[in-house]
Order: sequence, then C-alpha cells, then structure tokens
Amino acid sequence: MVGGWRPARVIETRTQTPSARSIRLEVPGWTGSDAGQHVDVRLTAEDGYQAVRSYSLGSYGPSTEVIELAVDEVPDGEVSPYLVRDVRIGDELEVKGPLGQFFVWRPDQELPERRGPVQLIAGGSGVVPLVAMIRAAQDAGAVESVRMLYSVRSPEDAIYRDEVVSAAAAGVDVRWVYTRSAPPDWEGTVGRVDADTLRDAVWPVEREPLVFVCGPTGFVEHAADTLVRLGHDPVRVRTERFGGR
Ligand SMILES: Cc1cc2nc3c(=O)[nH]c(=O)nc-3n(C[C@H](O)[C@H](O)[C@H](O)COP(=O)(O)OP(=O)(O)OC[C@H]3O[C@@H](n4cnc5c(N)ncnc54)[C@H](O)[C@@H]3O)c2cc1C
Repeated sequence: MVGGWRPARVIETRTQTPSARSIRLEVPGWTGSDAGQHVDVRLTAEDGYQAVRSYSLGSYGPSTEVIELAVDEVPDGEVSPYLVRDVRIGDELEVKGPLGQFFVWRPDQELPERRGPVQLIAGGSGVVPLVAMIRAAQDAGAVESVRMLYSVRSPEDAIYRDEVVSAAAAGVDVRWVYTRSAPPDWEGTVGRVDADTLRDAVWPVEREPLVFVCGPTGFVEHAADTLVRLGHDPVRVRTERFGGR
C-alpha cells in the first residue's frame, strides 16, 4: 500500500559517521520495495506540528517488515538533526511508501538482452539507495556487472563505509573520490569529481551501462551533465537529487 501513512517503530540505530546514522524501523504491513526506492517520513510534535521529508531505503526486498534508512545531518536542518541525534529505540514515526518508480534497479527482472553493466555514482548520503542496489546485486549474483564511484569529503564521512569495502572485496569495482582529505596511504588526487575521473572510473560508453547518480543536487547535475557530454545516452543516466547545493 503506497497511499497511506504507516506507523514505524525504531528498533535499531547505528552511528555511521560523525554526522550520520542508519535507522532500522519495524513497519507492520510493509510489503517490500525495490532497490532505489524511498519513503516519506512524517514526524509529529506534541503540539501537532508535522514535518515530512523523503529518505531513501538502504534496504530492499519483498517480505520483511523491517526497513533501513540512513540520514546525514544537514546543519540548521529541521528534521535530519532530530533523526541523527535524538530519535531513540522504541520511538514511533510514520512512513509512506515505497515511493519512486524510475530510480530503481531490479537485477533479476531485467531482460537478458537489456542487462548491461550498472554504474552507481554516489555523493555523500546519496550512497543510501545505491547500497540497496549493491545488496540486490549480491543477492542476484551480479556483483561483477556493478561499478561504484563514491565521492565523500574524507574517509570518516563515508556512510556504509564497511559495507562498501566488503562489496569491493566481493567483486564490485569501487572507486573512491575524496574531495577534502584522503587516507594517509592514498596515492590518487584529492578533489571534486570531474570529466577525467568519470571517464576513468565509469563503464565505457560502448558497454551501454545503466547509470544511477544520487546525492546533493549540484553533485548530481554536474555528474549527469558530464556523463552525457562524454557520450552516455541520457536515457540510461538516472538521477535522484537529495536537495541542497
Ligand atoms: C527522494 C529523496 C531521497 C532522499 N534520501 C535521503 C537519504 O537517504 N539520506 C539523507 O540524509 N537525506 C536524504 N534526502 C534529503 C532529505 O529529504 C532532507 O532534505 C534532508 O535530510 C534535510 O532535511 P532537514 O529537514 O534537516 O533540512 P531543511 O530544514 O529541509 O533544510 C535546511 C537547509 O538545508 C538545505 N538542504 C536541504 N536538503 C539538503 C541536503 N540534502 N543537503 C544539503 N543541504 C540541504 C535547504 O536548502 C535549507 O537551506 C532525500 C531527498 C529526496 C528528495
């Protein structure tokens, strides 16, 4: 059921970075989601004031009544600081969803002739729906067709870092981009994603990858525009903008 708001009880929280944490919610009656979808989260204050924001699902799959979100705190934001710092196990929120039909990947439903490689490109918290896609790829035995480029300010800012590192060990081709500071043993450059980085890290145009780009609006627009300039078919470049710059 997509239409209505469902109660969602916080059952686990995990610190991911100094400014982000993942939250697992039990949602009775949840009927599952595809990798890449999101939910709307509604908070209601004691005086009745309500706030609604969208959060991607790090989880995916058909049957479980547990979903996972990961939230990065936007300084001076209204909702994200509460979700990152204040929400406690046992608290009740409301969720609506799953939402989104376009930014989804269904590895086992793609027709064989259309099943090209998949390129994931994440900026910051944009990694959340892409982690759901990595989980789907692992379950479908399709890790070898998946590449990921993950742009973060510094190693400490990488949400789901351990899981992305494990996915790399399991066969996903992962490329890290550090925009402000890199690990001590880093041999690459430090800076924003540019055309050279994308040309180098992304599946070649001739392989006709399906590309998912997610993160802050400016990051997504820059990456997607650059990919199209490099020759990628706009129809195969799917984007999800989280807001902000
Ligand atoms: C489809 C979708 C999925 C999303 N999934 C996630 C997710 O998985 N994890 C996550 O952390 N966020 C996600 N977001 C962003 C989220 O919905 C909120 O916008 C974000 O948490 C900020 O909300 P806030 O109430 O704290 O800030 P607000 O009070 O709404 O905004 C405060 C200030 O921050 C700016 N701002 C708003 N959003 C951002 C942003 N994302 N980055 C930088 N500045 C911003 C605003 O322009 C404003 O100036 C998603 C957004 C969309 C549309």
